[in-house]
Amino acid sequence: TTFIGASVGGLGDMYGRVQTSLGAADRVLEILDEPEEPTNLTNQIGTALKVSGNIEYDQVAFSYPTRPDIAVLKDISFQIQSGEKVALVGPSGAGKSTIVALLMKFYNLKGGQICIDGQDINHINLTELRRNIGIVPQEVLLFGGTIRENIAYGKPDATEEEILQAAKKANAYQFIQSFPEKLETVVGERGIKLSGGQRQRVAIARAILKNPAILILDEATSSLDSESEKLVQQAMDELMKGRTSIIIAHRLSTIRKADKILVIENGQIAEQGTHEELSLNEAGLYANLLRLQFELS
Ligand code: ADP
Ligand code: MG
Repeated sequence: TTFIGASVGGLGDMYGRVQTSLGAADRVLEILDEPEEPTNLTNQIGTALKVSGNIEYDQVAFSYPTRPDIAVLKDISFQIQSGEKVALVGPSGAGKSTIVALLMKFYNLKGGQICIDGQDINHINLTELRRNIGIVPQEVLLFGGTIRENIAYGKPDATEEEILQAAKKANAYQFIQSFPEKLETVVGERGIKLSGGQRQRVAIARAILKNPAILILDEATSSLDSESEKLVQQAMDELMKGRTSIIIAHRLSTIRKADKILVIENGQIAEQGTHEELSLNEAGLYANLLRLQFELS
């Protein structure tokens, strides 16, 4: 395993890994990607919230309710402008997944404030909040059902054309078409077993279809074969276009492309800046993380 945020092993033993190694905050990300209850009533009466995706964390402090004595996040402050890409990097256990879990309002803060478009998220309806945020978790777990159902998850009323367009943009169309049942192919335990890269592309298609202003991406640490890797990378880039994106990043290519990098250590922002800015400080944590990650792996 590598140092930057890596907490899981190789591609094999996916099931065991999910059971044992994912942090609770990572599991939160899985849970939160589940379909929302049929609450589109607000849509129908035309009051749906559509954010533009400015995000501000102001002196956020947090402890998990089960361990109130342990300060997991201390004084986290940063701003993301609408459409910007921000990479979170740092050692495993530093607090990266927790930072993004708080944006989804899964827990209450201990101190400070998180605002979207200048509005405290505590004043935003939970369903509306989550409708505006898309997630691609590190390990994509599709539910047992068809590929169509898995893609249409975030937008149950999607048309055939919208689903196919999303699949194309996510580089998933070709492999879907290669199955005899195409979109009706059943995946999961009772169906066909997709590769890690294919599952990710289904999740990306789902997020494209949902069309949120804000994206949370937890980049996979396990390596895909290079062909799949390229397709996933392209699909991620397509998905991020024009959206505020927070990426828990493990790849140097992703980190370099980010508008801003937040180096998280021990629940605090140790450094922030662009790749170029942070690299200048050779004795800094960022430079050290890069050396560890990219010389040892
Ligand atoms: P990272 O994503 O940077 O690896 P996390 O945000 O997952 O870090 O975890 C930050 C800290 O919070 C770690 O010490 C971790 O053990 C702890 N933690 C994560 N989830 C929970 C939880 N549900 N309850 C208690 N502690 C947790
Ligand atoms: Mg994590």
